[in-house]
Amino acid sequence: MAFKPANNIQDLQYFGEFGGVNPSISDSSTYTFLSAKTMFDTFEGNAEGCYLYSRHTTPSNLYLGEALAAMEGTETANVAASGMGAITPTILQFCVAGDHVVASRTIYGGTYAFLKNFAPRMGIDTSFVDITNLEAVEASITEKTKILFCECVSNPLLEIADITGLSEIAKRHGLELIVDNTFSPLSISPVKLGADVVIHSLTKFINGSSDTMGGVVCGSQELIDSLRNVNDGASMLLGASMDSLRAASILKNMRTLHIRMKQHSHNALFLAEKFEADGLRTVYPGLPSHPGHELIKTMMNDEYGFGGMLTLDVGSLEKANELMELMQKQNLGYLAVSLGFYKTLFSAPGTSTSSEIPEEEQKEMGLSDGLIRFSIGLDNDIERTYAMMHKCMKELNILE
Ligand code: PLP
Repeated sequence: MAFKPANNIQDLQYFGEFGGVNPSISDSSTYTFLSAKTMFDTFEGNAEGCYLYSRHTTPSNLYLGEALAAMEGTETANVAASGMGAITPTILQFCVAGDHVVASRTIYGGTYAFLKNFAPRMGIDTSFVDITNLEAVEASITEKTKILFCECVSNPLLEIADITGLSEIAKRHGLELIVDNTFSPLSISPVKLGADVVIHSLTKFINGSSDTMGGVVCGSQELIDSLRNVNDGASMLLGASMDSLRAASILKNMRTLHIRMKQHSHNALFLAEKFEADGLRTVYPGLPSHPGHELIKTMMNDEYGFGGMLTLDVGSLEKANELMELMQKQNLGYLAVSLGFYKTLFSAPGTSTSSEIPEEEQKEMGLSDGLIRFSIGLDNDIERTYAMMHKCMKELNILE
């Protein structure tokens, strides 16, 4: 039977303490023990079902983690206070001083900055590669390499990583393939394609209401246990744990993710086709002109579409800024970073979410000044949205 991640979420059943249809929220930072011996055993990691302290985990966090693990098809998952709070401990759990990482050069600016500027302080070096070139990826692996890191659909250039091809390389060299699936939840199931670990910033599509931060690492029980280990677990010791109230609210929002993703994808495809026909330089994985279009079609769970992210190149930063300000004035969306909101969000990545990447490298990877990244919203009448955006572009002479 086809892998249906939304069904996997739907099929979970939780009851609250008093038979509530939602699980009760654990409103405690610490937990009592009937015996001192059980407390000791729990510290040693040997007391199944007992809760210790909320930085370790909480019942609410476990519910959310289970739903995310069900979505990604992993044994289990660990939620974190932010996407970066999931990414950095995972890298540090796998790598020690002297180890090496191979990462895509087109990844979220924060992840890039961590690998480029911070991890070397701990003796962990990274080679940044063109992830669409499997030969270049393999050639950059050394005997010190421990992990291969990429995003399925990259931020902000929307490059498509060949997860199956990368997983074959990872297996050949005994590496862990860690995939950030923030841009393509439900659409792509990396584990099904051979990835070992899947990470999300829950701050984006999965929560979908731009009211909280969150992150998750989905992987094997062994990995998640190691991240939570009280003695040497990077999640436990670095402390970016999620609060139970947030876990409960994200779980509730996640139940509508499949409906939202379909609408985000529908609207983004509509606009991408229109803008491309208007002659604008449009990048969207659902367009046949996208270099990764055929590849993503072989990897995706069709019903959720090609996702809600697209980019337009309007020629210069000045034009990009003018257009974004005008669109915000017309209430077509917000000039804001982040993604996955019900409103369209737009920003110029070169001066915002990817500003950590030096200008020279931005140029090399094709990140131009006039690039606007759109996270397309849930607009009910996308034809009207298009007509209004088109008018803004004409007014600014971006379109004739
Ligand atoms: N991964 C991707 C692809 C992102 O776009 C972001 C944030 O923009 C992150 C990770 C980091 O997530 P957070 O901001 O929740 O820490």
